[in-house]
Amino acid sequence: MKILIIEDEAGIANFVKQGLEEEAYSVDIAFDGKQGLEMALTGDYDILLLDWMLPGLSGIEVCREYRKENKFTPIIFLTAKDTVQDTIFGLQAGANDYIKKPFSFEELLERIRVQLRPKSGEHDRFTFGDIVMDLTTHQVLKNGEEIVLTQKEFSLLEYLIRNKGKVCRRTQIIENVWDIHFEYNTGVIDVYINALRNKLGLKDSGAYIKTIRGVGYIAVED
Ligand code: CA
Repeated sequence: MKILIIEDEAGIANFVKQGLEEEAYSVDIAFDGKQGLEMALTGDYDILLLDWMLPGLSGIEVCREYRKENKFTPIIFLTAKDTVQDTIFGLQAGANDYIKKPFSFEELLERIRVQLRPKSGEHDRFTFGDIVMDLTTHQVLKNGEEIVLTQKEFSLLEYLIRNKGKVCRRTQIIENVWDIHFEYNTGVIDVYINALRNKLGLKDSGAYIKTIRGVGYIAVED
């Protein structure tokens, strides 16, 4: 999952980035409104965290311009503007949620998870063969037994399963599971894929992660 933070205070931006990376999100930062809007429009983000008072364009302008382009990625305001009127104004500009500074990181994390919940299903659950992936509890179960994955392994599996049946290119995997600043040693993906295959016991599970030589990987089921 990829998150863009648009925030001009480096201290806050870096603190949030670090916390989110520890939760295995892939995070980019834009330090002004213009750059933020451009990155939001061209990058493939799952959530935008948006400050209100920004150089270049204000958060409100970024939000409006972004929605004008028919982009529906969830936007969460993270702002010191703390009146009820501000909140209403922010939501009316097209934001999905509004968090006032100072905020608790734990709360931010939960609100991000709420926005990332699958819309149609009742649970944050994916199935893949006999494997069940629970995004709420961060558990992976095979026949009811928990398989312990590292954060990166979990993110990689989530990305592949969300794109089940579609080829995931190596560059897409790197960008979505690591981040755009990751040094291009895509060999690291193979290491993680092998770890996943082994830990998940994919051989007899009705689900496979196939290698598409020279391109990437695809998660498929029988
Ligand atoms: Ca600011």
